[in-house]
Amino acid sequence: MNPEVLLSRIRVVLCRPSHPGNIGAAARAMKTMGLSDLRLVAPKQFPDPEADTRATGAVDVLQRAEIVASLPEALAGTVFAVALSARQRDLGPRVGSPRETVAHLLEEAVHGEVALVFGNETVGLTNEEVLQCQAAVTIPTNPDFSSLNLGSAVQVLCYECRMSAFAGRPPVAGQGVTPFASPPATHDELEGLYGHFEAVMTETGFYNPQQPGRLLPKLRRLFSRARVEKDEINILRGILAATRQQTGHGRKD
Ligand code: SAH
Repeated sequence: MNPEVLLSRIRVVLCRPSHPGNIGAAARAMKTMGLSDLRLVAPKQFPDPEADTRATGAVDVLQRAEIVASLPEALAGTVFAVALSARQRDLGPRVGSPRETVAHLLEEAVHGEVALVFGNETVGLTNEEVLQCQAAVTIPTNPDFSSLNLGSAVQVLCYECRMSAFAGRPPVAGQGVTPFASPPATHDELEGLYGHFEAVMTETGFYNPQQPGRLLPKLRRLFSRARVEKDEINILRGILAATRQQTGHGRKD
């Protein structure tokens, strides 16, 4: 299924958030990862200028956010929901890692809408809220300091969703466009370079063909690793030709 469509099926549900700034941070975290469906369960203060400020370019996500009174309303129509909790509960669904649980969440997203459910900044999710979800996730942290900021927890999960939706290789803006890049050198161009090196090194006395040692294979290894481009071959051969002229051997090629 199209990754963008899968991501559009994930609701981020914030239960009773206290700080409007965290709602804005969550919206920004979502938009950076291609999610857009934010549901707020009884937010203490929303809309709020602080939320807009923290959302920066993701104010559109805030404007479309649906405000509901209870978690069942936020989950209506979903086929799978994951509770995010910093604490292990005695009762409740199986706790998994963000990665494995998000993989499962996306499998379910093929069938319909799904949700990630986050708790209040101070008290987290209630047991009743966790029990309305089919899976739970605890983000692995420093055991002595395990509670992430709400916006940060949303970011971690949204990142995992994007990675999973794009099978580990999401496109990156500008990727593959290296400034100044030229096409890769061909076999014959590389062989021409090696021959040129060998001639100049011999002429300058740096290389003795009677005692070749490992010099030539080492140079080949170096250039193979570098995946040399056409322009780079031209630069290196230009340097070698200029060196030859200086050493009185002139330009023979
Ligand atoms: N003191 C609260 C933590 C609140 S942090 C508690 O003990 O639950 C606000 C929300 O961010 C949490 O309800 C949870 O949804 C999410 N969160 C923070 N740290 C997390 C972690 N390590 N693993 C999973 N979710 C986390």
